[in-house]
Amino acid sequence: MSESVRYTGVKAEKLIAVKGMNDILPPDSARWEWFEDTVRSVMSQHSYRNIRTPIVEPTALFVRGTGETTDIVEKEMYSFEDRLNGEQLTLRPENTPGVVRAAIEHNLTYEGGKRLYYMGPMFRHEKPQRGRYRQFYQLGAEALGFGGPELDAELMVMAHQLFARLGLRQVRVELNSLGIPVERQAHRSALIAYFEQHREVLDAEAQRRLLTNPLRILDTKNPAMQALVQGAPRLLDFLGEPSLKHLDTVKALLDACGVGWTINPRLVRGLDYYSHTVFEFTTDELGAQGTLCGGGRYDGLFEILGGKPTPAVGWGMGVERVLELVKSQGLGSAEPVPDAYAVIPQAASLPVVMRTLQDLRAVGVTVQMHASPTGDGMGSMKSQFKKADASGARYALIFGVDELAQAQVAVKALRGDPAQTAQQQLYPLAETAVWASRLRQ
Ligand code: ATP
Ligand code: MG
Repeated sequence: MSESVRYTGVKAEKLIAVKGMNDILPPDSARWEWFEDTVRSVMSQHSYRNIRTPIVEPTALFVRGTGETTDIVEKEMYSFEDRLNGEQLTLRPENTPGVVRAAIEHNLTYEGGKRLYYMGPMFRHEKPQRGRYRQFYQLGAEALGFGGPELDAELMVMAHQLFARLGLRQVRVELNSLGIPVERQAHRSALIAYFEQHREVLDAEAQRRLLTNPLRILDTKNPAMQALVQGAPRLLDFLGEPSLKHLDTVKALLDACGVGWTINPRLVRGLDYYSHTVFEFTTDELGAQGTLCGGGRYDGLFEILGGKPTPAVGWGMGVERVLELVKSQGLGSAEPVPDAYAVIPQAASLPVVMRTLQDLRAVGVTVQMHASPTGDGMGSMKSQFKKADASGARYALIFGVDELAQAQVAVKALRGDPAQTAQQQLYPLAETAVWASRLRQ
């Protein structure tokens, strides 16, 4: 073996990933691909189409769209100035504002409603911990230009269906209604009056929220404030007839589809743009980060972002959290193994070997080719068979010089009983399609 070439002669310092931003490596990445395949299938069954918007957007999109008084805009955004033209930009912390911006910009709802879904990285400067990262992936679905409660129900049924297809157990659905702006206004006044009477119990965060966004106090995780929050005026009691009817229809449709739900009057969600239905899918199995999916109706967002009034509803799902639950419940697919491993005694045979492997792949066989780490020769047969075994392949394709001289390849089973693995069979290189099916799973 030749000495490996040193390119610089200098020992460079190692670089590591940014805190809270993860590499997704094999074999875990196989679970991600399985998730993505399942998502595509469920989305297409419900007629949702894929949308991909930029990761970088104008900061103003989130300040206006997500809301100035949300945790995201107040303290979690990665914002920076474009060095060349001074534009204020932000790495998207969520995708709903981007989807609505794109819908307005391209007039997507011109001919009627659109059902869309996306999946990609989002960025929030949070304290990294289990289920909470600074770069994380969200799957989201949005139905734009539909005002009826059947869309709220369809989206929830679809999320439920996705969890079912993944095989997940013990996912709960919580539901609430935030009504319409005048109902929220009336509730807000009652809420402020109530909290002002109990000022001594409010923590610093809640004191501040009392002036900016009192509804968000209901969202507090502070144990010392739970009793206070439990006794607070409920938005549900301020809803008028149409809002109650909207909620009742959603409940009835969920019942009809076999999706269990509970009303949580304190469910308000962190984002400013919701109205009517809000919901969360949660689990007890992931500790504090138990919200897997959250969403709701956001009929006001198009106008906030300069578009025509357009009703809309959607949800966002945390992919890392879902996959952690998948893993802990022992679900998901194993890392794929190749059907065959190509053992290549002589580097000089590579042209004919690689051509044959192309033929095999064209008829659906998955093949891993042996490759040398150093670049000088292919390595001993013993080391090649060791690698073949470790690859998990069921067959070794042995491209020996004698076999190739007769335009043949030897196939040896690597798994199964000794009688099978002791044998080798010769097949013609020219007719891969005839025998290749035997190698496939
Ligand atoms: P949380 O209360 O956990 O902070 P959120 O209300 O900020 O959640 P949303 O903005 O509704 O979350 O995002 C939808 C989903 O994305 C969440 O339910 C969660 O599963 C996931 N999510 C949110 N923030 C993170 C994060 N920092 N890391 C990983 N997943 C996240
Ligand atoms: Mg959050």
